[in-house]
Order: sequence, then C-alpha cells, then structure tokens
Amino acid sequence: MNFVPDSQYSALRTQGNRLKDWGVDMRRRTFCASTVAALAATALPLRRAFAAADLPALGPDGAQLLLKPNAIDDLRAAMRGELLQAGQDGYDSARRIWNGAFDRHPALIARCAGAADVVHAVNFGRDHGMLIAVRGGGHSLSGQSVCEGGLMIDLAPMKSVHVDPLARTGRLEPGVLLGQFDREAQAFGLATTAGTVSHTGAAGLTLGGGFGRIGRKFGLACDNMYAAEIVTADGKFVRANEKENPDLLWGLRGGGGNFGVVTSFEYRLHHVNPIVYGGPLLYPFSDAKEVLGFFAGFIGQAPDELYCDAGIVPTPDGKRMLMFDVCYMGTPEAGDRALAPLRQFRKPMVDGVHPIPYVELQRSGDDSNRAGRCYYVKGGFITRITPALIDTVVEKLSGTAPPSTAILFAHSGGAISRVKPAATAFLHREANHSMVVMGFWDKAEDRDASMQWARSVWPAIEPMTSGFYVNEVANDDPERRIRANYGANYDRLVKLKNKYDPKNLFRLNANVKPSV
Ligand SMILES: Cc1cc2nc3c(=O)[nH]c(=O)nc-3n(C[C@H](O)[C@H](O)[C@H](O)COP(=O)(O)OP(=O)(O)OC[C@H]3O[C@@H](n4cnc5c(N)ncnc54)[C@H](O)[C@@H]3O)c2cc1C
Repeated sequence: MNFVPDSQYSALRTQGNRLKDWGVDMRRRTFCASTVAALAATALPLRRAFAAADLPALGPDGAQLLLKPNAIDDLRAAMRGELLQAGQDGYDSARRIWNGAFDRHPALIARCAGAADVVHAVNFGRDHGMLIAVRGGGHSLSGQSVCEGGLMIDLAPMKSVHVDPLARTGRLEPGVLLGQFDREAQAFGLATTAGTVSHTGAAGLTLGGGFGRIGRKFGLACDNMYAAEIVTADGKFVRANEKENPDLLWGLRGGGGNFGVVTSFEYRLHHVNPIVYGGPLLYPFSDAKEVLGFFAGFIGQAPDELYCDAGIVPTPDGKRMLMFDVCYMGTPEAGDRALAPLRQFRKPMVDGVHPIPYVELQRSGDDSNRAGRCYYVKGGFITRITPALIDTVVEKLSGTAPPSTAILFAHSGGAISRVKPAATAFLHREANHSMVVMGFWDKAEDRDASMQWARSVWPAIEPMTSGFYVNEVANDDPERRIRANYGANYDRLVKLKNKYDPKNLFRLNANVKPSV
C-alpha cells in the first residue's frame, strides 16, 4: 500500500468520485500498488474528462457562472488549507452555521489556514465574479456567513490566540471563539469584553460592536480592539491601527465586515478577577410587568460593575418566565448590595446568583443557545425600558403567541456610552439596552408561526427603538433601515467603502453601499 502525500491528496480528492471506479480508497488515503500504473496511464485522460465538468456557481446578483476545474485546482494547490466542494468530506459540516435556518450550499468553501489563503480566496472570488460570504465563528443570526452557490471564505481553522500578560494585550486569528479567548486571558487574570455565549465568534462580534458582561466597565469589544490586519477587495494585506490606516480602524470598529476579511485582531486586556458574582434571577411571567417596571428604574442607576440582561423566555414546560442574567464584577458583598433593591422589590422564584468563575459564567448560556436550532430575530436599541414598551412586550407574549418566542434586553451603557458616537463606526452610544424579538423552531412545521409572530409584533415595538445592532441585522431588513442605522457615521463609512471595496465584493453584512 502507498500513502498519498498531503501535497497530492487535495488534488486527488477532487477526482475522488471517479477514482472510486479505480479502486482507490480516498478516505484512507491509500491505493493499491497495482493501481499506480493504471492511474499514471490514465491521469491525462481522466483530467481531460474531468475538465469538461465546469462547476456551476453564482455571482452577487444571481448571475450564473461556470468555474473551470483547472482554475479550481490552481486555487486548491495554492492554499495551505482545504478547498471544499459538495460531496467532499467536511463540506457539509463546514457549510453549517449556528443558525439552522440557513441550509445553503456554497459552490466552494475555502477553509483558510492563514492570511495567504485568504488572499488567494479573495482574488479567486473577485476574479471569477463570485458571491462571497465570510465566516468567522459562524454565529451570524441573519445567515450571511454562508451563501448559496458562491464562495464561502471560512476562517474557522484560524484559531491562534496569543496573550501577552505583561503588555496586557491579546492577538486573535478570526476563527477564535469567545470562550477560547476568555480561557487564555483568564489564565493571567485578564479579559476584555467578549459576548455572553462562549461559542460565539470573536471576529463578527467585534466588527459589529461587541457587547458583553464586562462591557459597561471596559467598553465594547471594538473599543478595545486597537489593531487589525485585513485582506481588502483587491487582495492586498493592510494593517489598521492608530498610525497605519486609522480611517480603516475606525470603520472596523462597528462597520461590520464591509471592508475586507480581517485576518487578525489585537485587543487591550483588563484585570478581571477570575471569580465574579453572577447567575440567573427568575420570576414567574405573572410578575413580569411589575418587576420589569421596577427593573427599568433600578438598572438606570446601576454601577458600571453591574451587568444585567433581561428577557421573557420560555420555560422547559412550555410556560414563560422573566429572567435576569447577572454579572457583578466585584466582591460578592458589593454585588449583594448592588442587587439588594431588585431582590427586595420582589423575591425571585429562583435566585442563582453566586460567586462563580468568570469563564464558567461566560459558558452558562452555551447549551440554551445551542447550534443547529433555527432563529429569526428583529432588533433595536432603546435608552430606557418604558411602561409602554413593557405593556407591549407582555401583551405580545401573552395569549396566542407561539411558545418558541422570546424578547430579550441586552445591557449596554456605562463605559460604552462614554465613547463619542463619532469616535468609532459604532454609533449608538446612548442606548442602555439592545433588544431583540425572537422566534425559533426545531421542526420545519413550526417555522411559519414563530417567524410570523416576530414579524407581526415588530411594527408595534420598532417605533420605541432607535437604530439597531448591526450584528442583529435581519436578512429582510431593508436598505433604508440599514442606512438610517449608521446615521451621522454613514457618509464616512461610504467613503471607506469606496476606498477599500468600491465594487461591493463584501456585501453579505449590514451593507454599506459604495457610491463610486
Ligand atoms: C448565541 C449568540 C449569542 C450572542 N451573544 C452576543 C453578545 O453577547 N454580544 C454581542 O455583541 N453579540 C452577540 N451575538 C451576536 C454576534 O455578535 C453576531 O452573531 C456576530 O456576527 C457573531 O460573530 P461570528 O464571527 O460568530 O459570526 P459569523 O457568522 O462568522 O460572521 C458574521 C458576519 O461577520 C462578518 N465577519 C465575520 N468574520 C469576519 C472577518 N474575519 N472579516 C470580515 N468580516 C467578518 C461577515 O460579514 C459575516 O457575515 C450573539 C449571537 C449568537 C448567535
């Protein structure tokens, strides 16, 4: 038996189906010595036969393309990572993203192993007129990190994390998940703002803003990201920091994936005690109106150390409850004092707030937000949870609302609101909460009811919101909503788009359209 070397393996895999006829076992990467001669003798005809089979693909506007096998082979040979097509091992798992509602089939998936692979993939996608999707951690709620018929630039294999405990900085590749970053940084008693669910990707989260349990103390993830490296639409590798291309750094802090493919991020880290005081406080749905009413005033006075998400969510037995997800960065005694007014206003039916390792609290929502379930969300920012909003939320979740629906308020404010709206592309500094209305489903037959519910309640809620979080853009949000959302920062974003992506190669995001 001969072992197929790595250099030949990828090229041979493209011919996998045909090679099966020749007794080649591609899975075990072996073939009988007796087939070597036959293979050598037929390599040319085989290649010619295969060359006839162009790969159908799609362009950004739905144009039908045919990709030549030799061009695909050249890209495959140039890459250190894998280039996958339908039918190949790993293709189906690579095309899946967190939101199971998006079952899309890219023509090619470039599983990039480093920045050089990203350059090759961007050049290939652009030169062949393909629709391009960029995947970091794969948690896009709107499914924009996977595309039908296009090129998916998959950064998941790029997972290095380097923490410098003396300089208090962290450098990430774009496939790193938040929990992986937290774990490396917390080994040195450090952390930066990084979401609330540990399997979310750092890349997409940071580019859109990046809320998290310590954001009120240290600002958004993008506020702490001080340098990045990016492959732009022309395939150039560009650095963005305070000295080199500061305009681009500004845009990467909240402007989403509009300007290219980021291949590394650098963050400031902060001392965060490995033990914090946190966990859930649960109330029955019947208390939701009164407790949320109290919470609205209470949370407006909260110190920066206190982070508290609120949500009306389903219970496992098909009812609903009001849930607070608390994190207090400080001693349990100080945390007790900070939470006392809420606990005294109404005793929770479950009080799970206790001293807990920060990394464990960061993982506490992982199972309830598991990958593969289908979701549809509509979102908006609010400065205050008003009585009118509470009435609407409680009413919409009562009665005939399907069980798999929820309304969530993620906590903002504190240090986030002390950054000027024009200082980064992330505009909505005045907001105290980012709220989402969510429908979800496991079975296809529940899809319409959950989705329709979210769509039907949104018009009553939207007038009480101001802009929305670009990382929660819905796949049916109209262009005018996206444009309005960037507000006073929009013109500057368009200028950047004109400079770095004038043909809108990177359009699967809360898209800023170039004007050239
Ligand atoms: C379970 C869950 C929990 C969440 N919790 C929070 C939270 O606590 N705080 C918060 O702020 N947000 C939260 N979000 C929203 C989250 O910020 C977005 O879903 C974000 O897009 C996730 O990033 P990702 O890399 O995993 O996504 P992906 O799906 O990989 O990417 C999303 C988009 O980001 C862009 N992108 C990703 N990587 C790159 C790159 N390297 N270069 C250029 N563009 C890129 C692309 O446009 C892509 O379409 C949550 C989402 C989920 C599903």
